[in-house]
This record gives sequence, structure tokens and C-alpha cells, in this order.
Amino acid sequence: MSLLGAAQIRELAAALDLKPSKSLGQNFVIDSNICTKIVRTAGVTSSDIALEIGPGLGSLTLALLQTAAAVVAVEIDQRLATQLPITVAAHFEHPENLTVINQDALTLKDLPVQPTVLVANLPYNVSVPVLLHLLEKFPSLRTGVVMVQAEVADRLAGRPGTKEYGIPSVKAAWWAEVKGAGSVSRSVFWPAPNVDSKLVSFTRRETPGDEASRKKVFTIIDAAFAQRRKMLRSALSSLYGSSSGAEAILIRAGIDPTLRGEALEISSFCAIAAVAPDNY
Ligand code: SAM
Repeated sequence: MSLLGAAQIRELAAALDLKPSKSLGQNFVIDSNICTKIVRTAGVTSSDIALEIGPGLGSLTLALLQTAAAVVAVEIDQRLATQLPITVAAHFEHPENLTVINQDALTLKDLPVQPTVLVANLPYNVSVPVLLHLLEKFPSLRTGVVMVQAEVADRLAGRPGTKEYGIPSVKAAWWAEVKGAGSVSRSVFWPAPNVDSKLVSFTRRETPGDEASRKKVFTIIDAAFAQRRKMLRSALSSLYGSSSGAEAILIRAGIDPTLRGEALEISSFCAIAAVAPDNY
């Protein structure tokens, strides 16, 4: 097994006449050490089935194949999805361990195998919706490490009461415990992005409710953060008819109505949903 370096990535791109697409977030990792580090940080073992979103030219895919029992890679760009098995067959003795699916990750509903770990350098413009979608659709994913734009990483791992805390932090907390897992230099990418990157790791936890209650809780979260600077009684007034209606619900849930959404843990949003009417 040999991993891909800068020269091989450029050669592959040239052979495909690939002009990296900004809208698809195509910044390829050209440093194999960072790929090995991501796989190690994710704690991938030989019994894991890894799900990779956006394998691109295959740098991280090859590092994953070195350790995991199998890799399922979902790539939206048809040229890259077609090339990937060829690249893997040229560098790895068990190319049958890789399954490539040419699809938009946001539309994934099922997979041929149940993945246990998510490892991905996510396309930055859709990283939060992709992560939330995968956590929802694939409960077999128990852990993972994703590389995302630094600000997004801070938001995903944000704690209540900080300026980073917002919709991504609370919604991710429904599914998992999310933590920062280090910064990544711009120099490991081709082309170099004009934003910084960070790793975040997650470990799935038991969800605080069923699917119906998740939808209800997520609607409350969206309303609370849509008007971030407003007190909850006012931010939730559109959901509950008036600010006095919202205030009554908040008091019943044991939440101070003058707080802002950014002060509440996921458990407090669940407490509001538990006493709020369903029919709004
Ligand atoms: N994993 C590769 C690496 O580290 O070099 C490439 C990462 S690059 C940041 C993002 C990759 O995601 C690109 O290959 C891009 O084509 C792919 N991509 C973009 N949007 C996607 C989507 N909605 N679903 C699946 N793949 C997507």
C-alpha cells in the first residue's frame, strides 16, 4: 500500500483534466501524514466499516483502507467516483474492500452495509447538513472525525453561553457528543482554501427522544436562534401565538423566559418540547 502525495494528486488531476470545483468544495489533501493522522484520531480499527463522504482523488480513502475492514465512499462528482476504484486498485492489494457510490450525500437514504465510523474531509459548503443527515439516517455510525471549516468546527463543538453556540451545536448535541480535535494547515490542500480547517470528533449518545420529539425540538431550536438576540419568550412567540403564550410554556418547562436560546443546553430545549403543544 502506498499513500498519495502532492505529485500523485497533481498527476491524477492532470490525467482527468480536473479543474477543482469551488462549488463542490474540491480542496484535495496532498499530505499523506494528515490522512494517517485523521484515521488515527478517529480510532478506526480492523473491524470498522468506514463511511467517507467526498473521497475526491482518494488520499484519505487509501489511508482508511489501510486500517478499516471496508470503506464505503460517497462522491457526487461522477469523474472522481469513476476514477477512485482505479486509483485504489493501483495502490492497494484489496480493492474489493472499497465500495464507491456516485451520489449526493444529502440524498443518501441507505447503504449496502452498515457503517460504524464516519471519516471525511467534508465539502465545506454543506458540511453541517451532511453531518446532521448522516447522524439521522445511519444510527450504526457510533463515532467519527470530520474535517470542516474552522468556524464550523467551533460551532459544532460550541458550548452554551459562547458566541460559537448555535443551531449546529444544539442539533449535533441531539445525536452525539462533539469535540474539537485539532487544526489543519492550509498548506496540506491543493488548491489551498482561503479559510482555515479543523477536525471535529463525535461519539454517538442515546438520543433524548424519538423521531417525533426530535422534529418538535428542532423546530423550537430553529425559532430560538432565528432571532438570536431576543429573549426566548419573544423568539418563541411566533410558535406559540404570543409572547405571553411562549412565556407560560417556558415557565412550565422550568426555563427563565428572559434567557436567550444561546444559554440553553439540548436538555432544556427538550424540556420546552415536553410541555409545548404539538399543533403549531
Ligand atoms: N477527501 C478528499 C481529500 O481529502 O482530498 C476530497 C475532499 S474535498 C474537501 C470534498 C469532496 O466532496 C470533493 O471530492 C467533492 O467532489 C465532494 N462533494 C461535494 N459535495 C458533495 C456531496 N453533496 N455529496 C458527496 N460528495 C460531495
